[in-house]
Amino acid sequence: MSAPAVAHDAACIFCKIIKGEIPSFKLIETPLTFSFLDIQPTAEAHALIIPKYHGAKLHNVPDEYLADILPVTKKLVKAIGFDVDGPEGEGYNILQNNGRIAHQVVDHVHFHLIPKRDEKTGLIVGWPTEETDFEKLGALHKKILANLEKQ
Ligand code: 5GP
Ligand code: ZN
Repeated sequence: MSAPAVAHDAACIFCKIIKGEIPSFKLIETPLTFSFLDIQPTAEAHALIIPKYHGAKLHNVPDEYLADILPVTKKLVKAIGFDVDGPEGEGYNILQNNGRIAHQVVDHVHFHLIPKRDEKTGLIVGWPTEETDFEKLGALHKKILANLEKQ
């Protein structure tokens, strides 16, 4: 395997956390991933999982970093005791915001692991639905498939 691409931003708070220039409550670290407790948790044990590569949005980060993140996240789910099988009981959300409009504040890709213990704590999601029909979905499907062909 070739050496991973590396990108840092000296002004980025999460790059500073990776380098240890800003303290953090580190959880798991791999050659490609760093994880730590969120300083302003929306629920107890709210954790952040970040690539050791400075990219503002998901599409800016090389695949090898992204591929390392979910296995780390899965380990953390088990470590915080939220590996409940079946749909009932405690759950969790994995959230990854891209851009101010999508609630991103820190411009270094990060995945939130947010425990969901009850209705009141953790992530509260608004989920409006849009009107559509088979004709519209079909046209959209065609357009996306054509773009995928070009990648
Ligand atoms: P975003 O809204 O960008 O998806 O989330 C950024 C997250 O980073 C927030 O949950 C915020 O609490 C967390 N955060 C911001 N600065 C720091 C920091 O210096 N240390 C830690 N541990 N978390 C931070
Ligand atoms: Zn960064």
